[in-house]
Amino acid sequence: MQAYRRFSSNHSFDYAVHLAKKFKKELIVYEGLRKDYPWNSKRIHKFILEGMIENREEAEALDINYWCYVETEDNPARGLLKKISEKAVLIITDDFPCFIIPEQTRKLAEKVKCPVFSVDGNSIIPFSQFEKPASAARILRTWIHKRFSDSFLHFAKPKYNKKDLSGLNHRTKPPFSPFMIDPSGLDAFLKQIHFENEVPPYNKTKGGRKTALTLLRKFLNDKINDYAESRSSPNSFEATPVSGLSPYLHFGHISAEEIVTAVFKNVSDWTPEQISHKKAGDRETFYTNSSAANHFLDELITWRDIGYLFFWQKPSFRIGLESLPDWTKKNLSLHRKDTREYLYSLEDWEAGKTHDELWNAAQTELVLTGRMHNYMRMLWGKKVIEWSKSYEEAFQILEHLNHKYAYDGRNPNSYTGILWCFGLFDRPWFPERNVFGNIRYMSSDSTRKKFKIKPYLDYVESLKHPDSSLFS
Ligand SMILES: Cc1cc2nc3c(=O)[nH]c(=O)nc-3n(C[C@H](O)[C@H](O)[C@H](O)COP(=O)(O)OP(=O)(O)OC[C@H]3O[C@@H](n4cnc5c(N)ncnc54)[C@H](O)[C@@H]3O)c2cc1C
Repeated sequence: MQAYRRFSSNHSFDYAVHLAKKFKKELIVYEGLRKDYPWNSKRIHKFILEGMIENREEAEALDINYWCYVETEDNPARGLLKKISEKAVLIITDDFPCFIIPEQTRKLAEKVKCPVFSVDGNSIIPFSQFEKPASAARILRTWIHKRFSDSFLHFAKPKYNKKDLSGLNHRTKPPFSPFMIDPSGLDAFLKQIHFENEVPPYNKTKGGRKTALTLLRKFLNDKINDYAESRSSPNSFEATPVSGLSPYLHFGHISAEEIVTAVFKNVSDWTPEQISHKKAGDRETFYTNSSAANHFLDELITWRDIGYLFFWQKPSFRIGLESLPDWTKKNLSLHRKDTREYLYSLEDWEAGKTHDELWNAAQTELVLTGRMHNYMRMLWGKKVIEWSKSYEEAFQILEHLNHKYAYDGRNPNSYTGILWCFGLFDRPWFPERNVFGNIRYMSSDSTRKKFKIKPYLDYVESLKHPDSSLFS
């Protein structure tokens, strides 16, 4: 389990179970966590470990031979993968196309003697079904709609029971000390690990599948109907009709497939006949009779997939400004030397010390909670571009702050989200502007005109004083 850290609704796990049964071999599930990944922090570690503790409990209940490893000073990772795979007949892993995972998988395949298969369980439609990345959401939407019904039928198994897995655990012991800490010991355990980044966990965010399923239920019960209308109005997470599931999708505590299935179940009388095949490409009407559900599914499928597909043909740690379309690059080269009205250093940005109250609020939300309201995230990115010395510096600052603080960072959508601010997947906008040229411009003034922003500012202020009762 590298990217998709769960036993239910997991195509990689299904395939491993299938092959273990077919070849009558022991099934060993390895879930590991090193301490030296880029932008490592207590915040990210704790989120992952909360998920691992739940997986360990579930593995015990299902009698899965689950090898759970967390690197510490006393339990170093060097040479470990080779050691644990010494007797393996084959290895199944997740085909996640971004950050450290493509390199990790490549190195694993080079080091071990057995075959390594990586399974694409990233979304609904396997990315190999698309010939190339899409240049705009409207293009990918049509491709997805045409393929959706066929792919959606290939579900991963929603839940295992002990009987499904009987005979697969031969109780081989791991060649390392397994991670045995329980939730009450987690904070003390984390103190033993040296992190390069001082980023504390947010006390209202907990990793793991149970929380992901609770968030999904709450979203479907209380929020989804307002999704299309109100999600863009800046406010606290509680008061915004969004799911908050991106970190759980990122670490694989829940799958896109499960969320889609739950949305369908939530729409009254939904049957596959509601899928409007005649209108492929129409985001308002395609999946269901409910426009709110369709809007949400479009974000979850089209907008999430467009990022993954961008990485898919050439999996890599990151994509940068070189991946922008030609019209955007032309704008950047024409406006590269434009005068910047304000200039800030990384320290100013990070501390939320700009002249712009709204920008500072968004940055504070990110630093203190590990999330940022989606509309504010777009404005946040645009302003860093406008007030940085160069486009390259702006990209680096956005990548660094997003990955250091956001629970859902280090994901294909981190890069395509940041590059969207530079014009990726967008069209030219007029009039031509300073620094941006024809790339879409956003400002705090227009945000103030469009939305009531006082609730957002009050909410962020309350985060700085967690003891006050107003928003708790
Ligand atoms: C500058 C910038 C940086 C971003 N960085 C990240 C990132 O690091 N990780 C990340 O997952 N997303 C990122 N996004 C996209 C988007 O902001 C988040 O996916 C969304 O806000 C997550 O909140 P949610 O789970 O409540 O979304 P919901 O609105 O509940 O949507 C459900 C799911 O759909 C997907 N989704 C929704 N909106 C978008 C979108 N605009 N683009 C892509 N997928 C979307 C996500 O997987 C999300 O969890 C970024 C956007 C921008 C502009």
